[in-house]
Amino acid sequence: MNIYGITRENLEKYFVSINEKKFKALQIFEWLYQKRENDIEKFSNIKKEIRDKIKNDFSFNLPTIIKKEIDTDVEKFLFLLEDGEKIEAVLMRHNYGLSVCVSSEVGCNMGCKFCESGRLKKVRNLKSYEMVGQILAIEKEIKERINSVVIMGIGEPLDNYDNVIDFIKIINDPKGISIGARHITLSTCGLIPKMDLLSELNIQINLAISLHAPNDELRSQIMPINKVYHLNELIKAIKNYIAKTNRRVTIEYVLLKGINDKIEHAYELANLLKGMNVYVNLIPYNETNHLEFQKSDKKSIDLFYQTLQKEKINVTVRKEFGSNISAACGQLRSKEV
Ligand code: SAH
Repeated sequence: MNIYGITRENLEKYFVSINEKKFKALQIFEWLYQKRENDIEKFSNIKKEIRDKIKNDFSFNLPTIIKKEIDTDVEKFLFLLEDGEKIEAVLMRHNYGLSVCVSSEVGCNMGCKFCESGRLKKVRNLKSYEMVGQILAIEKEIKERINSVVIMGIGEPLDNYDNVIDFIKIINDPKGISIGARHITLSTCGLIPKMDLLSELNIQINLAISLHAPNDELRSQIMPINKVYHLNELIKAIKNYIAKTNRRVTIEYVLLKGINDKIEHAYELANLLKGMNVYVNLIPYNETNHLEFQKSDKKSIDLFYQTLQKEKINVTVRKEFGSNISAACGQLRSKEV
C-alpha cells in the first residue's frame, strides 16, 4: 500500500492494529502533508522501530513527471505510474492562486463524442494515492503550494467513487493537504446513483455537472451516458443534491458550433434550469481530433450568454487557456498515446 492513499482515520486504525497509539497517525500526517516530508528517516518523533515497520508496510512513492509543457499561465505534466500507465494533470495560475486539474482514471468509458480523453477506453481506476501524488509531485516540481483542485482531468470521477472520495478526504483534511472543500470541484457527466451517495456525505465541495445539451435528443447524440440516465432524471438528481447539501451546483455547457449553440437551445436551457440554485459555465469548445466539432464563433457565444442572462440564469464563460499545449478541457492525452 502507498501511504499517500490512506485517510487519517484509516491510518489510526492501522496504528491500533499494530498496538500503537492512534495519535501516531496525526504525527505521520504532519510530516507527510504539513512539512511535505517524503523521507521517513527524517520523521524524528517516530521511533526507529516503528519507522521500520511503517517502511515495511507502506510505499512512499510519488508518480514520476516525465514531461512538462509550459504555456501562458498553464503547465501540463505527463506522469508515469508504477505499472507503466501514463496520465496528465494541468497546473493553472489564476490571480487567486494555483489550481490543479487532476485525472481520476487511466482512460474513460463515458464516450462523450467531443472529448479527446475518452478515445482511450478506461484501462483502470486511479488509486487515491495516485491522485494525491499528482498534487504533491507538481508542488515538489514548482516549489509552490496548490490552493485549489478540480477533478476534471482524464476520467469520470464518479465511476471511481471510493478512491476519489478518499482522495478528497486526504486533501481536505485540515491535518492533511488542507485544501478547503470550497476549493475542491468535482465534475461529472451525471452518474445519478453516485451523485445521490455524494449528497449524503455532507462535504461542502463544489459539484459541476457536464450537461452540454438542453434536451434528451441532443444530449444522447453527444453524450452516450444520457441513454442510461435521462435528462429529467438528471435534473431531479441535481435538485435533490442541492436540497440535501444546500450548495449551488455548476452546470457546464460546452458550446459546439451549429449543434447546441443556437438561441433556441439557450431558451430551452434557461427553461430547464429556471428556479434552481445553479450557475451555468459556458465552455468554448477546445479543438480536438474529433474534426466533426468546431468552436462556436464569438457572436454565438455572446448571444447564448446574453440570452441566459436575460432569462435570469447566472452564467459565466470559462476562461480559455492551455490549448497551445493541448492542456485545455477535453484535450488531455490527445497526443501522448
Ligand atoms: N468526466 C468528467 C470530468 C472530465 S471533463 C465530466 O464529464 O464532467 C471536464 C469538462 O470538460 C467536462 O465538462 C467536459 O465535458 C468538458 N470537455 C470535454 N471535451 C471538451 C472540449 N473538447 N472542449 C471543451 N470542453 C470539453
